[in-house]
Amino acid sequence: MDPVTDSLNEVHRRLRGLRDGKVADYIPQLATADPDDFGIALVSMAGHTYRAGRTDRPFSIQSVSKPFVYALALGDLGPEEVLRRVDVEPSGNPFNAISLEPGTGRPANPMINAGAIATTAMVRADGPAERFRRILDCLSAFAGRVLDVDEEVYASEAATGDRNRALAYLMHSAGSLGADPEETADTYFRQCSVRVTAVDLAVMAATLANGGRNPVTGVQVVPEPHVVRTLSVMATCGMYDGAGAWLLNVGLPAKSGVSGGLIAASPARFGVAVHSPPLDGAGNPVRAVAALGMMSERFGLHIMHGP
Ligand code: GLN
Repeated sequence: MDPVTDSLNEVHRRLRGLRDGKVADYIPQLATADPDDFGIALVSMAGHTYRAGRTDRPFSIQSVSKPFVYALALGDLGPEEVLRRVDVEPSGNPFNAISLEPGTGRPANPMINAGAIATTAMVRADGPAERFRRILDCLSAFAGRVLDVDEEVYASEAATGDRNRALAYLMHSAGSLGADPEETADTYFRQCSVRVTAVDLAVMAATLANGGRNPVTGVQVVPEPHVVRTLSVMATCGMYDGAGAWLLNVGLPAKSGVSGGLIAASPARFGVAVHSPPLDGAGNPVRAVAALGMMSERFGLHIMHGP
């Protein structure tokens, strides 16, 4: 076996018995996830995929979609207009917090729900159907294959997503949403319900690490400067109120989601993804945080490391 797969297998072996954390249940369909699912996938800049554990198990992308849709919006509206509408400051608050600037209603950053909903509204389209199609096409180009929606998760999320609808209405009332709040929340629910595997997420992360060019398909999905902005926001805000400890301990731009997915990008080196449903108090997957901590220490992945 090759040394990368050996290392991934070792991390997997050491962490699969970890029983901390709790599977998210505020979206009822997510509560059906198997807490023992645990997969690690890594994609190199040469487009090679390495895996350990269950890496082909499909799950909904949830908040891991946020950086990719942010990169899409940067291309549609340009960085200045996007910044005018969503700030880039870590909120220090949970992912579903009402982090809106007093007066303007501008969300703190695009990695929390408020900012992500505002970002979804920024994707240029003639109507909600086209907006979602463009989001799905973008996520698919990052993954290098045609993705689809988990309709059960979508239905479950739409039935229970009043807090996200409320965020959309609050921004709308402050004049900071720029689209219909019901339609925007619905598009955001669909975006969160897009079905992926750990391998898909690793290819998506590797595309960010590779300056926006998918290392498997060779397609330039988004321009490089937009990737630099996206990775910067991931580094400061990608792990919600766990972002500071994450940057200290792991030192890679990353994004987590409530279904247990996590991506991290090591620029010009590789993209990595972990899938493991049980979450810590900040909503980050416990085994994934531990796995990346182990890998970072062992291979010197921290971006602040000297040569
Ligand atoms: N769809 C989820 C929500 O809006 C996404 C949150 C997450 O993954 N942290 O509540």
